[in-house]
Amino acid sequence: MLNEQTILNKVKTSPGYPSKERFFKGPVAVIECPEEIPCNPCEEACPFGAIKVGEPITNLPMLIEDKCIGCGKCIANCPGLAIFLVNLNYSKDEATISIPYEFIPLPDVGEEVDVLNREGKFVCKGKVIKVNKGEDHTWVITVSIPKEFFEVARNIKPLK
Ligand code: SF4
Ligand code: SF4
Repeated sequence: MLNEQTILNKVKTSPGYPSKERFFKGPVAVIECPEEIPCNPCEEACPFGAIKVGEPITNLPMLIEDKCIGCGKCIANCPGLAIFLVNLNYSKDEATISIPYEFIPLPDVGEEVDVLNREGKFVCKGKVIKVNKGEDHTWVITVSIPKEFFEVARNIKPLK
């Protein structure tokens, strides 16, 4: 199994990962889909034309970062649960990360949760600030976290 750093290096060099400059401009989709799989619902899901797969369908999804307004609509439309939303401008010290979530029970707004990395290892504590219904059985959970963890925080574990 790949470790966190190896996965992070791979997604950061894929065309779905925003530039550092774009992260600092406000909420932005982070597409972590670095394998050439035949899949493209993300392209249709974005109402702003900010995701391109094109032909062949095995192209890696590309984020056209200047077109992304950070609406989050693409998150629950990805069957691979591979799209996140990061907002580095949430507050002076905190960022938010919005993640696709398919477990029950759902966490409540205001609840403290453990925030995990891509390997499922503990990263930091977070606070749930939004719980939104997405597509079918996929929900989108938004948590606030200390800003320095925005690149590794990618899952949550409710404490109750
Ligand atoms: S966050 Fe919204 S604008 Fe950005 S890629 Fe996703 S659907 Fe498109
Ligand atoms: S929908 Fe998800 S899994 Fe499919 S190509 Fe887009 S990002 Fe990858």
